[in-house]
Order: sequence, then structure tokens, then C-alpha cells
Amino acid sequence: MTAADLVRVLLPLPLAEPFSYRASAGGLQPGEIVEVPIGNRVSLGVVWDGEAEPLGPGKTIKQVIRSCDAPPIGSALRKLVDWVAGYTLNPSGAVLKMCLPEPRALIAPPPMRQVLHPGASVEMRPSAQRQRVLDIARERPGLGISELAEAAAVSSAVVRKLLELGALRAESVPAFRPPPHPDWRKPGRPLNTAQAEAAAGLRAAVNARDFSVTLLEGVTGAGKTEVYYEAIAACLAAGRQALVLLPEIALTQQSLDRFEQRFGAPAWAWHSEMAEGRRAATLRAISRGEAHVVIGARSALFLPYADLGLIVVDEEHDASYKQEEGVIYNARDMAVVRGKLEGIPVVLASATPSLESLYNVARRRYAHAVLPERHGAAALPQIAVIDLRKEKLPSQRFLSAPLVQALEETLAGGEQAMLFLNRRGYAPLTLCGACGHRLSCPNCSAWLVEHKRHGRLQCHHCGHQQRLPEACPSCGAEDRFKACGPGVERLAEEAAMLFPDARLAIMASDTMTSPGQLAEMIARMERQEIDILIGTQIVAKGHHFPLLTLVGVIDADLGLAGGDPRAAERTHQLLTQVAGRAGRAAHPGRVLLQSFLPEHPVIAALARHDSAGFIAAEMAERQRAGMPPFGRLAALILSGSDQAQVQAAARGLAQAAPRGPGLVVLGPAPAPLHYLRGRFRERLLLKAARDIDVPNVLREWLAKIKLPSAVKCAVDVDPYSFL
Ligand code: ADP
Ligand code: ZN
Repeated sequence: MTAADLVRVLLPLPLAEPFSYRASAGGLQPGEIVEVPIGNRVSLGVVWDGEAEPLGPGKTIKQVIRSCDAPPIGSALRKLVDWVAGYTLNPSGAVLKMCLPEPRALIAPPPMRQVLHPGASVEMRPSAQRQRVLDIARERPGLGISELAEAAAVSSAVVRKLLELGALRAESVPAFRPPPHPDWRKPGRPLNTAQAEAAAGLRAAVNARDFSVTLLEGVTGAGKTEVYYEAIAACLAAGRQALVLLPEIALTQQSLDRFEQRFGAPAWAWHSEMAEGRRAATLRAISRGEAHVVIGARSALFLPYADLGLIVVDEEHDASYKQEEGVIYNARDMAVVRGKLEGIPVVLASATPSLESLYNVARRRYAHAVLPERHGAAALPQIAVIDLRKEKLPSQRFLSAPLVQALEETLAGGEQAMLFLNRRGYAPLTLCGACGHRLSCPNCSAWLVEHKRHGRLQCHHCGHQQRLPEACPSCGAEDRFKACGPGVERLAEEAAMLFPDARLAIMASDTMTSPGQLAEMIARMERQEIDILIGTQIVAKGHHFPLLTLVGVIDADLGLAGGDPRAAERTHQLLTQVAGRAGRAAHPGRVLLQSFLPEHPVIAALARHDSAGFIAAEMAERQRAGMPPFGRLAALILSGSDQAQVQAAARGLAQAAPRGPGLVVLGPAPAPLHYLRGRFRERLLLKAARDIDVPNVLREWLAKIKLPSAVKCAVDVDPYSFL
């Protein structure tokens, strides 16, 4: 057997590297989708690049079963798979699985269904039932067998008999009708000068048919969406596919509606909560180039587009782009990698760009398009800080007097208000008033959060739920539990007490479980059926409520504590985004930040509207500390159910730590969440100079150590979560 008869085939399975198979004469091209035997099953795989290893003696090699009739996986996507696998230290098969979440969808024939029409007039025994069926078939052609039977209130046997007699005729039609194509000729809104300039830059980038990255930065409400729509129009005009990534599934519906208004036809949605049939149809349409525009969550990045011409990453700063499980990756960064491999432009849009992107602008690796002002008459809101050290809150209350007064004024003026608190549930902590015992999760080192709505305590990390116990598990005291601190439910209780006539609503990720519910809540807000909207970070993003003029931030300091090197940056982004919800139309808005730390650089910069000053100071601080974007980080998280074993493994790993100029290893230390889902966790953090190939350092490091099989090691390159 010669090497030429052998091919490498990558299977979309978590542990797979390419396997060798024998190909029949004629050969197979890289990218082809093939069926191969694996163990005693048959799997789909992709013919991979590179030479298959010649076989060791005595090894048998299986034969490729067949090449499938499906569009091949392009070379850029194959390179992306290998690149991401190398960068994140995952097997290529795990990454390929993200490209082919439903591999069969690519080869399955399009689902068809049978519909009925009136047939020839035939001689037959007349009956009332038959007549009803024929009448309905004439009035409503195109029903399926069971639909027609149901409409005529007969059994489907009656319908089948008529089919057999020829009185009805059946036709096979696609079960899923692809929507009409978006119309790129349809003009958008007339753009203002800054928008027109930014749009021209993006259109040129699309028409260059080459890799580029543009950071589209514009204050909230500046009209970034209108601008990147122009890039999409250019991409459609070139006959290529465009992908828009959004950080949050909850935002897709709004985004789809807006897209449809602009282009007269819907885009294709992609996210993890779609029904299976829809996912399969979408994947198929993407791979065949029938889906011209896809709007999706981060997982849409890896799909096998037939001819991708543009990637837009909206809200590029958002930490939700980081996938924290399985293959740990940042979709914003991987979008840039895909853009580079495909040779296409990438647009990163944000009102509060990440320091990483701003750094790349400063180094001239990214182009910068700036929209300095809100579109039209809308002005940015006034921001004031309420110093909670002076404005003392009454016990068990969370709304200060100035905020209450501002709410009164807003409601009296017939306008809307939003209260922002990034805490779900009623109270983040419940303790026993007799002994001080804190109710915590049995599986995690985390407090249980009370949710009055469900009458339960919940762990926000593992999902554990329980009722409030009758007696303290520690001292046995009964009915002595006290809620500590506010969550959105508790805040709503206080607002309802202060404003009994106001219409209140809570918007939080656990109360809005489906995109439809969120869309409904947004619609109610737009119709002004809500006076005070109380929400977690889900309200911060993207929404446009013309009559919302007051935003109250209950605890502006909330995100500043803890060991996250991006804490200040994130708080600045989040609060800027929240503040940006106010006064987006003709009515001016104001924002009140309740804080115990008014002098903190983040809070002070917000109050001065001085983003640039904050970012310059934060950049200098990161540079001094060698933190991203000036240095690189990678985390190793060891976990297992035996604490001593995990600690010993972590010490062993630390002893083998790489040394050298530009390398520092911190830890091991118990993770802030040192017990999670029943596993003990230890963290090590690698800090490296920018020019160091971190994945390679990690590979060499991990190769030196044999971890016990009960200890799991998660590798997080460029970590965003430090829990
Ligand atoms: P951003 O994404 O920058 O926050 P949007 O694109 O959502 O801003 O625009 C904010 C609001 O201004 C939206 O209602 C949008 O329709 C409107 N808008 C933006 N640009 C224009 C324009 N050129 N003409 C008319 N309305 C615009
Ligand atoms: Zn838990």
C-alpha cells in the first residue's frame, strides 16, 4: 500500500485527531465530506490536509465508505480548525464539531412534505365525507394529508382513498421554504456626515476582498448599526455571505426585525436554542450559500459558509463572546483569525471598545471609524454620582432620597425610568439572625440566592435549588433568616412600595427565559406600558427606548471588587452602556450612579464623561503591570473531587512551571470559587510577554506532567473569567 492510497480524515468528535483511512482509486480531495467506519459505527468526517502516516506493521486500516454529496469544507475553515485547536490546546475534532454541529444536515436531502391538490374528476361512490374533503382541497390547496383530514373532520384513510382513486393529487414540496433574499439595492436611511464617512470606509474594505479589521466606535445611539448595514449591502452586492455576531441570544430577535425592515427580507438566525429541524435547515442553507446573511451568537462563527465575505462583531467588548466550556475561546478574537484566513474584512463595533481592540488601533493593525455623536437631536445623558457615604440609605432600603426624587419627577413627566442592578433574585445572601450562619450551596463555595418568585434558594453556579429551610441548619433557630443586600426582585418590592401606581417590570436573564418573552417585554416598554423597568445586565445592551429618560444605577461599585484584572474596564463599559439607554431620542436623559466610591477612577471618569481619560489611565496601568493587551495571560484550572489530590497535582504542575525571560507563573492558589459542582479547584496563572508563543509554552509545560486521571485540567488562553 502506498501513502497515496491513504487519506487523513478528521471526525467531529471531542477527542479526535485525524485518522488514516484507505481511499479507493481516484483519490479524495481535502475538504470532502466522507463516511467512514469508526469502531463499529459509521461516522461522517472531513478529508483533512497533510500526508497520512504510513502504517506500522500488523496494523489494518479501514476503507472510506463513500464520499458524500455535500459542499466541501473550504481550506480557510480547515486552517481555522487547526489554528483554534492549536491555540486553545484542544483536539482538532472538538473544533470541527463546532463547524459541523449537525453533520448529517449537510448531506441529508432537503426535507420534503406531501401536499394535496384536487385531481381529476373520477367516477366514485359519492359521500358527504368525500365531498367535504374535495371541497376543502379545492378551497385550500397545499394541505398535507393529515391537515386535510383534520380540516374536513374525516380520518386520513378517507383522504388516502381519494388519492388512490385519483380524485386528489399529491405533490412533494420542500418542508422548509427559504425566505426571500435580502435586497441590497433597497436604500438605507440617509446617513449623517460621520456615518457616511465610516460607511464608505467599510464598503471599500468589503470591495477590497481582502483581510482587514475596522473598529467601528461610536457612542451609544450613534447609529453604528446603520453604518455596518452599508457594509452588509456591499457584501450582498458582491454576491457573498455576511455574518453578524451578537453577544446575547436575547438580542437576536430585535436585530432580526431591524434587519428585515432595512433589507426587506429576513436574515437567518443561529443560536443554541433553535429547534433541531431549523438548525439543520439553516446549516444546510449556510453551506450551500443560500443563507445570505446570518445573525447569530458566537457559535455561528465556525459554521461552513459557502462564500463568506464579511464578519461583523457587534458589541465586540462583551465578555459573553468568551465561551467558557469545552473549547474555551473568544469569538471576537477568533473572528479576526477567521477573517485573516478567509481574506475578508472584519468589523468590530462598540460604544465601549475593549482595550485589546483600542491597542490594535493604536498599533495601526486595525482601522478606526468613529461616530463621535448621537444621531439626530439626541444628546448624551447627564451623569451624576450619588455619594452613599453622605446620602445614607435607610436600613434595608436601596433607593437613596435623590434617586427617589428623580423617579418621582420622571414619572410625573410621563417618562420612563430604568433601575439597574446586576443581581438576579431577591437577595444575594440569606443568613441566620441568631447565629450568623450563611446559607450556601452544598456543591459550590457560593451563597444561595433567594428567588421569592419561585419560593426557592438557588445557586447561580450549579443550578442547585432548595426551599428556605424552616430552621437554621447550624443553630436550629426557627424563622430567623434575614435577607442581606438587594437583588432585582427586592428592588422591585421597594419601588412598588414607594410608587404604588407605577407599572413595574423586571427584566433579568432568569425571568426572560425565551427570546420571545424578552421581545414582548421590550415591546411593552416601547408601547409605554411600563413606567419603571428594573433589570440586570440584560437591560444594558442595545435596546432603544425613546421615552426612557432616567437611569438609576443602584450599586455602581458592584463590579469593581475581586481579582479580575479587567474589573475596572468592564465596570466602565457596563455603566457606559447602561447610561447610554437614557435619553436616546428627543427627550434628554439623566443617569444617577449610587456609589460608596465616588473617587474611584471608573466612577469619576463616568461622571466627567471622560472615557478617553479613563482608558488612557487604564492602559498605562496595564502596561505597568504587563497585563493584557501589553502582556499575555493563560490560566490552568485543575479540578477534582479529592481536594488533596487536586492540590498535589497543582503543586506538581507549579514545580514543572516554565521559566525564562518574560514568563511568570502565579499560584497554585485555590480558585475564588474553590469548590464548584462538587469539585475542588486550584488555579495557576501564566503571565507572559507579548512576543511569547503562549500555547506552545503551555504544551511543553503540560507534556512534562502526568496528571492523575481523576484530576481535570482546563486550559484557558486569554482568560476573561477569574473565578
Ligand atoms: P448604535 O448601534 O450606535 O447604538 P443605532 O444604530 O441603534 O445606534 O441607532 C440609534 C437610533 O438612531 C436608532 O433608532 C436608529 O434607527 C437611529 N438612526 C441612526 N442613524 C440614523 C440615520 N442616519 N437616520 C435616521 N435614523 C438613524
Ligand atoms: Zn452550586
